[in-house]
Amino acid sequence: MNAPSNVAALAPAVKLLIGGKFVESKSTEWRNVVNPATQEVLARVPFATPDEIEAAVASAKEAFKTWRKTPIGARARIFLKLQQLIREHMAELAAILTAEQGKTLPDAEGDVFRGLEVVEHAAGIGNLQLGELANNVANGVDTYTLLQPLGVCAGITPFNFPAMIPLWMFPMAIVTGNTFVLKPSEQDPMVTMRLCELALEAGIPPGVLNVVHGGEAAVNAICDHPDIKAISFVGSTRVGTHVYNRASLAGKRVQCMMGAKNHAIILPDANKEQTLNALVGAGFGAAGQRCMAVSVAVLVGEAQQWIPEIVAKAKTLKVSAGTEKGTDVGPVVSCAALARVEGLIEKGLAEGAKLELDGRKPQVPGYDKGNFVGPTIFSGVKPGMAIYDQEIFGPVLCIAGANSLDEAIEFINANPHGNGTAIFTQSGAAARKFQEDIDVGQIGINVPIPVPVPIFSFTGSRASKLGDLGPYGKQVVLFYTQTKTVTARWFDDSTTTQGVNTTISL
Ligand code: NAD
Repeated sequence: MNAPSNVAALAPAVKLLIGGKFVESKSTEWRNVVNPATQEVLARVPFATPDEIEAAVASAKEAFKTWRKTPIGARARIFLKLQQLIREHMAELAAILTAEQGKTLPDAEGDVFRGLEVVEHAAGIGNLQLGELANNVANGVDTYTLLQPLGVCAGITPFNFPAMIPLWMFPMAIVTGNTFVLKPSEQDPMVTMRLCELALEAGIPPGVLNVVHGGEAAVNAICDHPDIKAISFVGSTRVGTHVYNRASLAGKRVQCMMGAKNHAIILPDANKEQTLNALVGAGFGAAGQRCMAVSVAVLVGEAQQWIPEIVAKAKTLKVSAGTEKGTDVGPVVSCAALARVEGLIEKGLAEGAKLELDGRKPQVPGYDKGNFVGPTIFSGVKPGMAIYDQEIFGPVLCIAGANSLDEAIEFINANPHGNGTAIFTQSGAAARKFQEDIDVGQIGINVPIPVPVPIFSFTGSRASKLGDLGPYGKQVVLFYTQTKTVTARWFDDSTTTQGVNTTISL
């Protein structure tokens, strides 16, 4: 966090959203929002005060009283409108996102688009929030379920998808009848705020969606607040574990999507050209700052001869600002992230991995202050090395070898993370064995980044996830609702009375 004196006083202030109004924080703690390609200060973001967080939760609690009773059609139509507004503002949203986060403009549009798909899904809530009914469970008795909203829910989001991940959260929470307090990443909150403006324009009533900014203190306040019933978190394993433990102790429902180390197995029978293109795209796209980026390639048998071709393809990628045409790899999000990635590359060398391609300190004409690191490839990577054990979250691909599919599966299952994985092969039998035996939540078969579309749910597992229900899709409808079971009997004049019955039957 910047000390107040380091914060650009003239930069525009990112506002809070409380009770339907965008308001300037009274905080004395602010930090700069910085363009990672240029170091230009774009805005300053406040660390909301305890009173402001209290006001946001109170406005959400008040709004819940009426919002929870709003008819399904009225809720759905807001999200129909929001999807239209997002489409109309796609280029503007992508430009804001690229400026503060660094990814290329086409990739920023992809970030918005994957969130837009969840908004479209939310608009279909009429088909999603349905209970069940069993007729005549006993004589004249029916049992049915109601999926009712929980109350005030909260979302805490990471820097790497500042459009998609807030859109994973607030549309589905709100459309199911809850009200919401969002705490975006303090590193790139601007596109999130623009999406919230569009959400209000689409018709979300005052108090139903609120936004507070900040870091640890704001997150802890959300975890502890007795009026918040559920929290969705996406971010690192360290912070997610803390949020899960703290908020669960406070009696909340919590879902945490966390860090990753995603492996791709490449069998020698794979379609070589398609596989190498997919591997390089998934390893280095978004500068490796995707939770589903392929960060470890496990080359099986003769596929271990393909390293020179992987390196050759990686060398063709253009490293530059996300706004430059033809850029493949933009900057990493901050100077601190750059120092961390460069430090891990140093460690990889010191710990004996073979540096096949060194992307450190690339020449980027016109952007000499940017946080750039080019595609970097290590081979001979083993557990115990920092580059294998830690999530690098930069454009660094680790390559390991295996003699067989079984050995490769065992290698992946021994890694604690379970976010995503992929296999590249032309063998249906090998792919089926992989899908059955691999202990990872999201599996790609010749698909390098298998993020499910919103008619399904995001299903990371093991150390990549805490809580049983995932974001979006059917699972999140259950996450954001409480099931009530009603057992009902209606008497009419012809119903004969049984007298007092003290046994357990209906
Ligand atoms: P982060 O954990 O540093 O931050 C996430 C959120 O937690 C932010 O809103 C931040 O303000 C807050 N936070 C940071 N430090 C905190 C602390 N000490 N106490 C309480 N709150 C704190 O994550 P990040 O660097 O913004 O994002 C990158 C990470 O997110 C990577 O590990 C990536 O794998 C993960 N991620 C996971 C998924 C997934 O679906 N599994 C998706 C995207 C990103």
